[in-house]
Amino acid sequence: MNDKILQYDIVIVGGGAAGLVAAVCCAKKINGKIKIAVIEKEFKLGKKLLATGNGKCNMTNNNMSSEYYNDESRQFVKNIISKYSTDKITAFWESIGLLCKADSFGRVYPYSGQASAVLDILIMNLEYYNVDIFCETNITSIIPENNGYKLTAYKKTFTAQKVILATGGKVQPSLGSNGSSYKFAADLGLKCTEVFPSLAPIPCNDKYLPLMKGVRTAAVVSLKADGKILCAEQGELQLNEKNISGICIFQLSRFVNEYYALNTINGKKYNRVSIIADLMPDYTLDETENILKKRRKQMTTLKTEELITGIINKKIGLYLAKKLNIDLDTELYNLSNDDIEALARSVKECEFVPSGMSGINSAQVTAGGIVLSEINKNMQSVKYNNLYIIGEALNVDGMCGGYNLHWAFASGIIAGNAAANSYKKKR
Ligand SMILES: Cc1cc2nc3c(=O)[nH]c(=O)nc-3n(C[C@H](O)[C@H](O)[C@H](O)COP(=O)(O)OP(=O)(O)OC[C@H]3O[C@@H](n4cnc5c(N)ncnc54)[C@H](O)[C@@H]3O)c2cc1C
Repeated sequence: MNDKILQYDIVIVGGGAAGLVAAVCCAKKINGKIKIAVIEKEFKLGKKLLATGNGKCNMTNNNMSSEYYNDESRQFVKNIISKYSTDKITAFWESIGLLCKADSFGRVYPYSGQASAVLDILIMNLEYYNVDIFCETNITSIIPENNGYKLTAYKKTFTAQKVILATGGKVQPSLGSNGSSYKFAADLGLKCTEVFPSLAPIPCNDKYLPLMKGVRTAAVVSLKADGKILCAEQGELQLNEKNISGICIFQLSRFVNEYYALNTINGKKYNRVSIIADLMPDYTLDETENILKKRRKQMTTLKTEELITGIINKKIGLYLAKKLNIDLDTELYNLSNDDIEALARSVKECEFVPSGMSGINSAQVTAGGIVLSEINKNMQSVKYNNLYIIGEALNVDGMCGGYNLHWAFASGIIAGNAAANSYKKKR
């Protein structure tokens, strides 16, 4: 039996953050005058979008800079965000009906505090502008043909004059994107970098780590590579049985994962990485030592187990004592100055050695992807006319804080407008 052939002017492959925004921009600009379709492999649109920001969707950030993106993308991203600033992105959302608000850290969310509101408003616009939506339609090939493209799915073939590729990265495949962007890139001869997960917990093979399971504590965490501190983040450190987590750790995970994927950090080779956590960031090493020594002096017969009670989380004390081989049952007067100094140092410089790369099921974004030299400033392929590539499929990844969605939205707006504009010119 022949496949059904469905003819469109513009087809957007991927109904996620970038693809839906591109489709809305395109459709709004053309106002129902051409046939546009969004094709999504999952049973519904925007599965990942609903999971963003813990269900609240951190859409962008008032503190916007290309510094918050991967090194290789910075110049390109700088040009994009100079035109598509946070205000412009927020104005776009308001223009299609979504109210937004920023929290005290500058992170922008939908006013309703619901990621579902973001998806609802996109779908409302797609329906209003008569965009056809095909869910459960997994595109398996995109072939340039007759001045346009032929796209194949199970029992369906689409033809389109223009294609916007918005198939995402490869993390969290249960939410949709599963790396098909890179297959399309390979089929079309487009260059792609290695990809690896980013913004994820860092796994650690530390036999005492379970002692701190469930602890959340304020910390400054630093990335140490070959003995040098490369960068640091402040925030809540979450300690789990097999990994360390929290937004501050997510920010460092990109570098740790690059190290495990490529043996480099920001392109430079390293032999060893670890995470150093300062668990009393408001006190110096000397002050920490003095606090511990004071307790020993005041309560000589107290058990070592209680040395840090009331100072930091008790479970951290148990963990550090185990790591340093200090007997918790011994009385404080038995603790030597060396023991106290070692404990204080461990509080200030607690080392966690990663056991490998974070899993793709726990990460928020894919680092790496289709290289930016494959597209122009309109997100159009330099090799293929009328093929646009947007969102996480490209080699752009940002830090936590709304930077990845900002990129998805900005690239979607640019491609959607460009596809519509060039179509208008043609007519
Ligand atoms: C749990 C979680 C929380 C996050 N929170 C935030 C946050 O608060 N702020 C932030 O800035 N970023 C956040 N991110 C990252 C952000 O969601 C992504 O960077 C962004 O969604 C990327 O948009 P995209 O459209 O390029 O890809 P996606 O949103 O992944 O969309 C791609 C779509 O293409 C579809 N698709 C893939 N292949 C095919 C195919 N062959 N045929 C048809 N359809 C296909 C997929 O099913 C998917 O729906 C979060 C990510 C996760 C996983």
